[in-house]
Amino acid sequence: MSAGYGDVFLMNLPDGVISNVLSALPVEQLLNASMVCKAFAAMSDKLLEKLCKERRWALPRFPRGQSATTAFPWRSLYRQHACIACGKIGEFPLRRLVSGHTVYLICKRCTAIPWVQERLVRENLFVDLEGVSGKKLLSKGQRTKKRRLSAG
Ligand SMILES: [Zn+2]
Repeated sequence: MSAGYGDVFLMNLPDGVISNVLSALPVEQLLNASMVCKAFAAMSDKLLEKLCKERRWALPRFPRGQSATTAFPWRSLYRQHACIACGKIGEFPLRRLVSGHTVYLICKRCTAIPWVQERLVRENLFVDLEGVSGKKLLSKGQRTKKRRLSAG
């Protein structure tokens, strides 16, 4: 047996090194990496906590003596604000056709992807054209054109 590079495993690196690598990832890839193992999930959760706090997203409060229902609450919180397709910040609510309840968020770019559109149809979801920040999905030009069409 030789002590070659085959004996070097990512998990054998010091936590600080792994954490540095994770912190260099785009957030979409950080979310993926957090699914690899509990150690990565814990380190990712710390990084996601920082991102959530920068955006002033707070964890829900729990009664005294009770803690979050998940081991990685910041990852869950981030996911609630992320686009279901790409993991970037979601801008538009995806609502159930029947109840109108918001179930996910999506970003503008991903609303144009065919497989995403197929998923929305399959799951009976629609995109709320007014974004979470009040921003509209359609540009001013598109809205004007639509109004002209409906007026004429
Ligand atoms: Zn997206």
